[in-house]
Amino acid sequence: MFRNTARLFVQKEFVPHHDRWCAQHFPDADAWTKAGAAGLLLPDVPQEYGGGGGTFAHEAVVLEELAQAGVNFGAGIQSIVAHYLLAYGGESQKRDWLPRMARGELVAAIAMTEPGAGSDLQGIRTHARRDGEHYVVNGSKTFVTNGWHAGLVCLAVKSDPRATGWKGISLVMVEAKDAPGYRAGRPLEKVGMHAQDTCELFFDDLRVPVANLLGAAEGKGFSQMMEQLPHERLTVGVSAVATTERAVAITSRYVKERTAFGKPLIDFQNTRFQLAQCMTEARIGRVFLDHCIERFIAGDLDDATAAMAKYWLTDSGCRIVDECVQLHGGYGYMREYPIARMWADSRAHRIYAGTNEIMKELIAWSL
Ligand SMILES: Cc1cc2nc3c(=O)[nH]c(=O)nc-3n(C[C@H](O)[C@H](O)[C@H](O)COP(=O)(O)OP(=O)(O)OC[C@H]3O[C@@H](n4cnc5c(N)ncnc54)[C@H](O)[C@@H]3O)c2cc1C
Repeated sequence: MFRNTARLFVQKEFVPHHDRWCAQHFPDADAWTKAGAAGLLLPDVPQEYGGGGGTFAHEAVVLEELAQAGVNFGAGIQSIVAHYLLAYGGESQKRDWLPRMARGELVAAIAMTEPGAGSDLQGIRTHARRDGEHYVVNGSKTFVTNGWHAGLVCLAVKSDPRATGWKGISLVMVEAKDAPGYRAGRPLEKVGMHAQDTCELFFDDLRVPVANLLGAAEGKGFSQMMEQLPHERLTVGVSAVATTERAVAITSRYVKERTAFGKPLIDFQNTRFQLAQCMTEARIGRVFLDHCIERFIAGDLDDATAAMAKYWLTDSGCRIVDECVQLHGGYGYMREYPIARMWADSRAHRIYAGTNEIMKELIAWSL
């Protein structure tokens, strides 16, 4: 029933506007409130905080339906920030922000990456200096999804300039709208995912109440990110598998309709074999993903397996989508064809939430 609701909502409220969102590089603001009203935001957050009271399976349904419709929308990031709040937030922080996030009145972003530090998060330079009951934040972030609409930013900062490496990193929640010293740049020109606002953020003597620190003490930010990243990686795996399945379905239809040398493309053995291979890999991905989702819901998805899911599902997803582009011929390279957009969109899966090379390092540490 929830999948049905999500599918109908996405088809009716998002798909007709998506091309315009792509052109403006962000979704309409009311897309967020509509998604909230339909129950698509924070579906796995407890009801007492305004969420849907479900599990990660509900979250996965939303992400799958967005991917199946080819819609770029940052509902997954909204959930990721909600999980930081659930895990480390104080009661008043949760009660203040989560219900508004669930209603889509407050859009959330997470800002870790900086121009000079992506994979190596220990090297971040954005810093927060304590001044009475405030932090004074200076620095910048880049590639921040939901950055254009964000009213709440989970921000990774150096709170102790003397501490080396991960020790001095904290997460502070920035209430961004109209805050003096806070500025979001125009959405960046990406290769794909055009409807999703990915921005630079700038902080210039931005004052953030000390009460907005996430967690009981400073210096916990790095371990908080390491604890929460498996969740983020699983969400990327969900999108990758849904994209893969859609690519195989779309291409199977296409090769039955398109003819060459007097017969449908499906009549060439190469077409059948390539698609059979793609379908098999997609099925393997689905089974592994479902295993990871079950383990995540049970609370025992370990970091290495989450990294395997993110790395393998996105690598195989890109291979499959690329093969499907090939089977479309020149039309596969035209943006009006969904497969072309999927090719450009899914390429980011191998890069964000930790690159696949970093995933292999994490897996290797567990050997
Ligand atoms: C569309 C999009 C959305 C994003 N959204 C967000 C967001 O919402 N919030 C946010 O904070 N960030 C976001 N990011 C940033 C993303 O997480 C980073 O781009 C990513 O972590 C890689 O960092 P980097 O770009 O600095 O690459 P680099 O760290 O410079 O890496 C460059 C290359 O070096 C490799 N490399 C680096 N270190 C190692 C190593 N130890 N071993 C082997 N290889 C290595 C990498 O794998 C990569 O191939 C987004 C990125 C994109 C593209």
